[in-house]
Formats: sequence, C-alpha cells, structure tokens
Amino acid sequence: SDHSLEYPSEPKSFDLSKLYPAYQDTDQRPEFADIGCGFGGLLIALATLFPDTLILGMEIRVQVTKYVQDRITALRFAECSTEELTRKGPYQNVAVIRANAMKFLPNYMQKGQLSKIFFLFPDPHFKARKHKARIISPTLLAEYAYVLRPGGIVYTITDVKDLHKWMNAHLCAFPLFEVVEEDELRNQGHGPVLDAVRTATEEGKKVERNNGEKWLACFRRTDNKRL
Ligand code: SAM
Repeated sequence: SDHSLEYPSEPKSFDLSKLYPAYQDTDQRPEFADIGCGFGGLLIALATLFPDTLILGMEIRVQVTKYVQDRITALRFAECSTEELTRKGPYQNVAVIRANAMKFLPNYMQKGQLSKIFFLFPDPHFKARKHKARIISPTLLAEYAYVLRPGGIVYTITDVKDLHKWMNAHLCAFPLFEVVEEDELRNQGHGPVLDAVRTATEEGKKVERNNGEKWLACFRRTDNKRL
C-alpha cells in the first residue's frame, strides 16, 4: 500500500543530491523518466548512451527498487576509482526511486522537465474492471503532458496486443500528443534509444526468449500553441 510511501510535497523539495551525488553542485534535474522501470535494464543502457543527461527510474516494488539501487551502486564503483566517485563518472547520471508514479509524478517533476518518458511492458491489467489501473489513462495523460516538454517523446512497448491498442487509442485521442513513426525517430538519430526500448529491459528479454511479439508506439508532445 502507499501508506509507507514518502513523497515530496513539490518538485522543489525532491532531494536529488543523494540520488546523483556527482551532480549536487549543479541544478540539473532528470530529463528522462522510466515509469515502472522494473529491474533497471533500460536505465543501465541509457546511462552510457546519454552520459550528460540525468535519468530517473520510478518503481513501486520495494525489493525491485532496492535491487536496482544496488545494481547502480555496483556499476558506479566498478567503473571508476575511489577518487573518481565524486566526479561525473559512468552511471552517476542514473538513479531509481521507489514511487507510485501513477499518483505522485507531478510531486517529483516540474512542468516541461522531461524530454523522454518510457512505459515499457507495463502491467496489462487484463480484466475490463481493472482497466482504470492501467498506467495510460486520460487523467494520467494530462500529467504526462504536463511534465513532458513540447517536442518530448513518449515511448510505449508491450507484448500484449490489446494493451497496445488501448495505449495507442488513448494517446492518439489526447490533443497534446501526436504519433511519431519509428522510421522518423530513427532518421532523427533516436535509433539507439529505440533499440534499448526493444531489447534492454528484463521484460523485453523475456518476451524475446518466448518468441513473443512486441508492439512499439511513440508519441511526440505537441506545442500548447497548436490547441
Ligand atoms: N519496464 C520494466 C521492463 O520492461 O522490464 C518492468 C515491466 S513490469 C511488467 C511493470 C513494472 O511496473 C513492475 O515492476 C511494477 O512494479 C511497476 N509498476 C506498476 N505500477 C506502478 C506504479 N504505479 N508506479 C511505479 N511502478 C509501477
């Protein structure tokens, strides 16, 4: 339950210095968010692809979050000498928090803070009466649009075709998002990100092992002025 969940009252009081100690003298804030990051495969892949960008995973399960924290700490130590630990060495730009992203995202993120937001293999909640528990819904889309800057990209992928249709339908219907085709993103240099989206997460690897299909859909945050 959420009773034991602590969360900041507003983004300004979200303490980033413990998460990104090498960046504590900067005013940089996370620019990419992986919602329901699971075991952290995407975070680890993006950390070295975007060494100057702060990346945040949000995960609701306590033990899974702890696992990802330990994984990041180990990589930080493995990749640099002790005196380098305070510098902006590898994996210093990636962190994870335990959070209910469906309830508290605007407590962590300022308006327009994000340029990328990821929903990779979200829980499908198959039964119709459970659909309101899905991480993509009209109410939540308003929050995602708020924290994403115009031009920012939403990445979704799932192996559940019905969920793909659901996410696609809701995102297409929302005025602040427009579909962006995979080819277009690849032509704009987003290929490595798309490859990570497809293959870097633990769930994505599992789907591969089972020869499952993957449905990708990406959306661009439009400019408010167009409304
Ligand atoms: N994205 C990861 C991957 O591709 O391997 C994990 C996919 S897993 C099927 C979905 C994850 O979302 C789980 O780890 C679950 O605990 C997390 N989750 C579900 N609801 C959440 C919420 N409201 N806030 C944060 N995480 C959530």
